[in-house]
Amino acid sequence: MNDVSTIPLVDLRAQYRAIEKDLLGHWQEILNRMHLFLGPNVQAFEKEFAAYLGVRHHLGVGSGTEALILALQALGVEPGDEVITVSFTFFATIEAIWHVGARPVLVDIDPETYTMDVDAVESALSSRTRGILPVHLFGHPVDMAPLQRLAARHDLWILEDAAQAHGARYRDPEGSWKMVGALGDAAAFSFYYTKNLGAFGEAGGISTSRDDVAETVRLLRVHGQTDKYTHARMGTNSRLDELQAAVLRLKLPHLNAWNERRRVLAARYTEGFRGLPIHTPVERDWAHHVYHLYVIRVPAEHRDALREYLHTRGIATGVHYPIPSHLQPAMAPLGYREGQLPVTEQVAREVITLPMHPFLKDEEVDRVVEAVRAYFTSGGQG
Ligand SMILES: *Cc1c(COP(=O)(O)O)cnc(C)c1O
Repeated sequence: MNDVSTIPLVDLRAQYRAIEKDLLGHWQEILNRMHLFLGPNVQAFEKEFAAYLGVRHHLGVGSGTEALILALQALGVEPGDEVITVSFTFFATIEAIWHVGARPVLVDIDPETYTMDVDAVESALSSRTRGILPVHLFGHPVDMAPLQRLAARHDLWILEDAAQAHGARYRDPEGSWKMVGALGDAAAFSFYYTKNLGAFGEAGGISTSRDDVAETVRLLRVHGQTDKYTHARMGTNSRLDELQAAVLRLKLPHLNAWNERRRVLAARYTEGFRGLPIHTPVERDWAHHVYHLYVIRVPAEHRDALREYLHTRGIATGVHYPIPSHLQPAMAPLGYREGQLPVTEQVAREVITLPMHPFLKDEEVDRVVEAVRAYFTSGGQG
């Protein structure tokens, strides 16, 4: 049987092939012009992505992490402020809050969508709370309406971490669908090369419909400069470069189709896993999931054995995320303890990430499904 090729978690070369011919011409043009930062491609991408999201502004910056940091600063966060977010996220979410001198206050997650338990936010409020930072994890949106109501009642801002959810949508209680990234005061996107919309180097962006936030980010990303020799306020260096913007402009028209393909593949996995002791991803009826990652949960005692079983059959797997943020060594100064976020902690012991990308083949999904089924029908002995 010629069935031993490895199925990787993600195949980025295939995505490159889809834009290769056009891209090389654009890159040559950019390099001949030698206007490498915040030039015509960045400006065009900012317009195009803002239009795609339905917001007034999008601003390209150096990475998703910097997008979070600059957005927090533009929203006026100051040392000593508290920002409510989740522990179950990529650590950058927490780091960004820390870097602006604020305190991350962590709440638990919904055990099915793995996103912020919005009912837990109210009891995390204090007199120092300034904002809420929901993370649209794995491509599933957070239930935003309750957060929006809470934010309005307590005069808080909302910053979305949309790094894993380009193209995801949320249906508000009035029944209209809105893009993730257009649901708060501002949103931070990462265009890291593995994300649903990825560049070929570091890149990120901030979307907002608030003119004041956009203007502040515009200053902050170039050292607070108002003109060449005047620095109106302390900023940093966080520019999107032209080569990355050209990649993003070429990929953006494919994003919806690529996300649709992810959804088809996800449905195929989920159908294939029926009847097994596996929690497959859910999609709430108010959500349009874009499956940045396809994450299943298995009983904790099977997690490592199943991963090993799949590995020996040429199937790559991952774990997002094995150690919740509140239990990271770097978080020791905040004094969190094991047991404080029980759902987060249990989920972290049970999750497995399976191969997912728009160029994954049906047959490859079937091979993964067969292998997982074989593992459980053989009694999980491997
Ligand atoms: C990737 C990611 C980030 C950080 O983005 P970078 O571009 O890698 O700095 C932040 N939050 C989440 C949830 C992410 O997945």
